[in-house]
Amino acid sequence: MTENLILFTITPVQKFITTARKTEDLWLGSYILSHLNATAIQQIYDKKGIKVIYPSIGDDSPFGAWRKTDITLPSFPNLFLAMSEELSIEELTQTMQYVEAAVQCEFEKIARHAVEFFVNVVGKKKWNSTGADDIFKRQIKNFFQLYWGVSSRSDGSYQDWYAQTGSRLASVKNCRAFYQVSESGRKCSLCGDREIFHDSTTDPMSWWRQFAQRSAKYCRQGEALCTVCLTKRLATDYFGEKYKEIKQLSFPSTSEVSTANFKLQIANNETYKEFVEVINTLENDNGNQIEVTINPVPKLHEIQRSWNVDGDWLFEEAFSPQNLERYYGISKNAQIKQEKALNKGNKLRRELIKKVGFEPSRYFAVIALDGDGMGQTVSQAENPEAHTDISSKLNAYTAKVRRIVEKNYLGKLIYAGGDDVLALVNLADLCNILRDLRCGFPNLNNGENSASTASAGVCIAHCKVPLGDVLERARDMERAAKSVDGKDVLGIALLKHSGNISQTLFKWKYPGEDGTDIDMVTVGENLIGLIKAGEVSKKFMYTFRDVFTRLTDLSGDLELPGIVESELERLIRRAVNEKVRSDEKVRDRISENIENLTPLLAEKRMKFDDFMCFLEIVNFIAREGERDAAISETE
Ligand SMILES: [Zn+2]
Repeated sequence: MTENLILFTITPVQKFITTARKTEDLWLGSYILSHLNATAIQQIYDKKGIKVIYPSIGDDSPFGAWRKTDITLPSFPNLFLAMSEELSIEELTQTMQYVEAAVQCEFEKIARHAVEFFVNVVGKKKWNSTGADDIFKRQIKNFFQLYWGVSSRSDGSYQDWYAQTGSRLASVKNCRAFYQVSESGRKCSLCGDREIFHDSTTDPMSWWRQFAQRSAKYCRQGEALCTVCLTKRLATDYFGEKYKEIKQLSFPSTSEVSTANFKLQIANNETYKEFVEVINTLENDNGNQIEVTINPVPKLHEIQRSWNVDGDWLFEEAFSPQNLERYYGISKNAQIKQEKALNKGNKLRRELIKKVGFEPSRYFAVIALDGDGMGQTVSQAENPEAHTDISSKLNAYTAKVRRIVEKNYLGKLIYAGGDDVLALVNLADLCNILRDLRCGFPNLNNGENSASTASAGVCIAHCKVPLGDVLERARDMERAAKSVDGKDVLGIALLKHSGNISQTLFKWKYPGEDGTDIDMVTVGENLIGLIKAGEVSKKFMYTFRDVFTRLTDLSGDLELPGIVESELERLIRRAVNEKVRSDEKVRDRISENIENLTPLLAEKRMKFDDFMCFLEIVNFIAREGERDAAISETE
């Protein structure tokens, strides 16, 4: 019997995931994809004569393996590789058609569950003769495109065989007709592409107005979704019925992530408890308690008792009449009725800030990291065992990633599987998380080749910036990082609330003058420490830019690299706080940092603009991390 390799993949991935307003949309997009690929692998697992090689799941079923790690964390990639020594091409074709049907059927089931939940809340018993079922069918059927390629072993090596399977899959993808379905009417507020799910006999928005009023947790006033986005938004209910871990889960919002370091200070505080109680008494216009209970980031979960309200409430603007109405459905009249509670809440909020000594931050970061040249690494595997071995090493990395982001530091993973990581993190822990993620990346190459590397894109943004934009920017930075010669690069973009963008690209490490490496994350972290301690003026980098811009030519290169070192040193020394200038220890710490900075520019290791933006972002993190409470209250 001939041996065959089968490569299978699900699309679309990026667009499906990035279409997100809430962090929960992002996570559920990843979750559905992960669940569908596990469903596909399950069919192969159940069939005799065929075995999944990649991703490696050991002897467990895919769902069994998933449960053993963390069923709430999407960790299956959007593809699998399988091998068969017994089945004929006809039998394999049949098997794969069965896999396709199982995946499509599962997605339809998730969608049907969501739609039924929705019409139930709206108070309709029937929806499948109202025109809504046409929209359902049109949008859900064929939404996911599944592709697979099979190829039989020939005389060549395993590597050739694998490459051939890959090209089979690519040509199937190229040939498949693309179903362009025309969509008319009011478009979905999330994707903007498809018509909203509605009943054709009444006003398209009538269901949505009722839904937002009755189920504010899932939908904001004015929001209306297509069937695909609705499926995503409500999928927790479907998965919650399968797994109790998901039933109990409410995904931390972006402001929950941005305020996590502040919350770490008040987790067991009595004033915070009182604050939560007051917020929980607030009611919207229908007399319903507003749903504000939310899970904190995992690290806080352990020390935080069961009470917690969304980080949003720690911001002054949460108590503004417009925001109370817009985000929580508390109209002006209802606000007057609850004036006492609102005033008390705001007073407790100010007390908390005074107690902690700094303002809760409105900025958070998204990290997107993946291995460099993974396609090549995977294609060089000499046999199926080598493929499985790569996957096992990556599984061990995923376990490490979970510890780093969720146990050791203040972050929340959206996805972690294979060589891919997507995480939301608090600014105070950004440097630590980045360093540990990069250091922990495994070497997947064999002896003679250089060790595997990884690149990452980061976007730091205000928690009110549309989440899809933040994620896309992080992905753009990741792509930019990978286009740098030799890769192994970190790209960071800072999206300010004002709309200003700064971005920088740099290698994780540069060779220093004395033969030791300059670790850029550590350089950044040390500078943040100096600025935070008040040892270096916050304005120092504006002076830098002024002086150095005059020294650069039209192409942005420094004309006189020789003077950089002395100039940089002079400027940093001038930026040092007078009070500590005479302190020898501080002086030593500062010179150490200068020694690290100067070679970066002097030998053109970093481009001037990248260097300046690096300093700007470092400065921003230092200021934003623990913004002085007294100053910002009067701002
Ligand atoms: Zn949509």
